[in-house]
Amino acid sequence: ITNGTTNGTSNDACKKSALVTGADGQDGSYLCELLLGQGYTVHGLVRHHSEVTSEKPSRRSLGTAAVQYHYGDVLDPFSLIKILRASKPDEVYHLAAQSHVGLSFSTSSYTSDVDALGTLRVLEAIVALGMEKTVRFYNACSSEVFGDVRDPVQNEQTRFNPRSPYAVAKLYSYYTTVNFRDQGVFAVNGILFNHESPRRGMDFVTRKISRAVALIHHGDAMELTLGNLDSFRDWGHARDYVRGMWLMMQQDEPSDYVLATGETHSVRIFCEEAFRIIGVCLEWDGEGVDEVGVNVKTGKVLVRIDPKLARPLEVGYLLGSAQKAADRLKWKPEITFQQLVREMVMADIKALEAGSNL
Ligand code: GDP
Repeated sequence: ITNGTTNGTSNDACKKSALVTGADGQDGSYLCELLLGQGYTVHGLVRHHSEVTSEKPSRRSLGTAAVQYHYGDVLDPFSLIKILRASKPDEVYHLAAQSHVGLSFSTSSYTSDVDALGTLRVLEAIVALGMEKTVRFYNACSSEVFGDVRDPVQNEQTRFNPRSPYAVAKLYSYYTTVNFRDQGVFAVNGILFNHESPRRGMDFVTRKISRAVALIHHGDAMELTLGNLDSFRDWGHARDYVRGMWLMMQQDEPSDYVLATGETHSVRIFCEEAFRIIGVCLEWDGEGVDEVGVNVKTGKVLVRIDPKLARPLEVGYLLGSAQKAADRLKWKPEITFQQLVREMVMADIKALEAGSNL
């Protein structure tokens, strides 16, 4: 399937071409927008879903039919070869993944196949087509590879200590990318700390909170149920992070970069900040699984703990330093934590008011 601009005009021949795997995900949709804005011809690899329950953000927000989507799957090497051949990319942004850490514990073999071997398959396909001298490759690695951290701040030198099937698979993808680079491919790893937005999937904690706060505000829900309130994450905005991905690919030499805000907040703080947007001040009462978040004004319980939401292994604390990206890429995040939370809550409120099912 292709949806989009016609190929082969003289104008298109001078344009750079990019292939984005996972183009309909949160990062993929922002990245496609950025690349289109930079004048690229943009191809997106997307998986076919038999049931389309909601409009994909990338398609909706792009507004034009400028991205050329191709059905494929990183589990299917032949689809990768066909799409690479059709799109003739100068740059490949490999974002497709089973991206949920919690889910990776119950689908560990599948997660490994997609996230570890998926990266290998894309790189092998590039080499099989003889494109390795002309194509630049970006791998979406993750701060989850740091896992059970000992260093108070993590950067490119920090020891890896993965704590989930997801993180182990991403570490495989990291070293695979490094090995191809060592063989001469322009291949980079973006070690991105958590990055969120109104387009984040509902099962990630930030979006779960923003959506629940909107529902409570709207009178459609009474309570929000969470797992571990005390894990800390370095949360940035996905729009800032896709700019960093692009910058990594424009350098003279390939290298790996951490992208992070340099600030960390707990899930608890994220909740407090999100409820503050709707004018609710939360206070915490009780301990462990009996702890609750209470509306100070009304005394109503708004947040409860469900121990079933806790993970078999947890990454308790992440805080990144993007000094290398600041020095070499001149990258720094522009959207603050408070702005991020506000944007997410307001977007969910707006969607509810508009009657959207998102
Ligand atoms: P991750 O950092 O990629 O795992 O991103 P998530 O948004 O899935 O989780 C961030 C942190 O929030 C983790 O430490 C989770 O254990 C914690 N958390 C607490 N309650 C929840 C919940 O209900 N859902 C999710 N997804 N995470 C939760």
